[in-house]
Amino acid sequence: MKNILVVGAGFMGSGIAQVCAQTGCRVYLMDVNREALDKGVRAIKWSLEKFSSKGLLKEPPPSILERITTENDLAKASMVDWVIEAALEQEDLKREIFKDLDRLAPAHTPLATNTSSIPITRIARVTENPQRLLGLHFFGPVPFMGLVEVVKGEQTSAEIFQRGIRFVQSLGKTPVKVHKDIPGFVMNRIFSAAFRECVDLVGDGVVTPQDIDLGMRLGYGWNVGPFEIADNAGLDTFVRVGESMHALGEDQLVAKSDLIQRMVEKGHLGKKVGQGFYKYGRDGKKIPGEDG
Ligand code: NAD
Repeated sequence: MKNILVVGAGFMGSGIAQVCAQTGCRVYLMDVNREALDKGVRAIKWSLEKFSSKGLLKEPPPSILERITTENDLAKASMVDWVIEAALEQEDLKREIFKDLDRLAPAHTPLATNTSSIPITRIARVTENPQRLLGLHFFGPVPFMGLVEVVKGEQTSAEIFQRGIRFVQSLGKTPVKVHKDIPGFVMNRIFSAAFRECVDLVGDGVVTPQDIDLGMRLGYGWNVGPFEIADNAGLDTFVRVGESMHALGEDQLVAKSDLIQRMVEKGHLGKKVGQGFYKYGRDGKKIPGEDG
């Protein structure tokens, strides 16, 4: 049984922990915020119950949950086979975390970050073993989404990159291999280019977010519209990713309009708070006919 440390118990960290436990790993889910840990575990329970009610789990939810324990610090890094970091999208914070992880984790343990935008090479600079850092960029909600970008930093070893690919496959996900370490990697660059235009069109009063979502679903065959994707991901995370892209000199991928910032200031963070570009009921489903 593999032992995994997941750092950050928010939307992504809790989903990654769930998928690791579902596929038989023992998971240590760590966060500096007790409430985030409690919320993360509640989200995992809720999701496992849903999967179970549809007959999609091989084991009852309590057996899977038993493999997840919560942690307040990084000490478990010393005894795990993999570390996956999914804390806030802030470069300084991630660097601090990886400095500690590099000190604590045994030499054979790969250290992965789920960053959406920051090149792995920049985070790896603070460590003494940059060859064991890589990007494992999951998509949310993690239990549903099949894709993980596996990103090779400039100094990531070929062996760690291959282990990353096999690990992602062992979680039942499909890897897309990213061979060059650029801000936003591949999928986020493509999405950001489209989303920047969407936000600016709405910001200029040309169209509503809801009509863009409709248009992208009916006109281009997207399963989910761009503003629905943003609501799912969390608009606060979108703001952080935009700030990070700006800091990395990628302004062509950042909207000029401050539409998303204004939503965040109003507390409309998306699905997790019940309101973003749409309104959501307690079951997490959109309330028909009610825009955010
Ligand atoms: P989130 O805000 O839901 O969760 C972040 C968590 O990190 C919080 O619970 C916070 O308490 C915790 N945290 C803060 N400092 C910490 C520390 N020092 N140690 C441990 N935990 C700490 O954010 P999220 O949406 O889960 O995003 C997490 C990461 O995943 C970010 O890097 C983000 O860019 C990336 N990501 C997000 C999405 C998405 O759809 N939201 C998709 C792919 C990647």
